Amino acid sequence: MWLLLWLQGLLADVLGCFLSEEPMVERKSTNRIIYHHSLTKDGNATSIGRWHTEHNGWEDIGYHFVILKNGEKQEGRKLSLVGAHAYGKNADSIGVCLIGDFRTEYPTEAQIETCVKLQHALNRYYSKNLSIEFHRDLYSPCPGKMLCRKCFVRRLKEGDI
Ligand SMILES: [Zn+2]
Repeated sequence: MWLLLWLQGLLADVLGCFLSEEPMVERKSTNRIIYHHSLTKDGNATSIGRWHTEHNGWEDIGYHFVILKNGEKQEGRKLSLVGAHAYGKNADSIGVCLIGDFRTEYPTEAQIETCVKLQHALNRYYSKNLSIEFHRDLYSPCPGKMLCRKCFVRRLKEGDI
């Protein structure tokens, strides 16, 4: 059962990845931030970038930000460009990936705190309340259920810390 779930998750993620690439162009509008998990226990912007370029054949990492388990925020694709992280939703979104496999582990408090700060910083930068969204769609269970959507949205809307 566990293996089946793992394979299902992997397949969904890989499929989602291949469907996610869009050309590296300037993003015309920014309305939402879409959160992901890396589906890995470890990693960082460099290792994900290597996977996206060497394995997927993309021009650059698909996410705009990567949040490590210790809360460190790393920059990925240039913020002004269209990302490659959520098929059909890349044109007006910013992609943020939290390191971890949230099917089997919880995000760290440090990661959540960094997300709160990042969400508010980006809201200020774009002078609007960017919608808080999860990747979860037809192709991907991302991020896993251990990241509670209701709690996460509430934390991000509570205000700066
Ligand atoms: Zn995702």
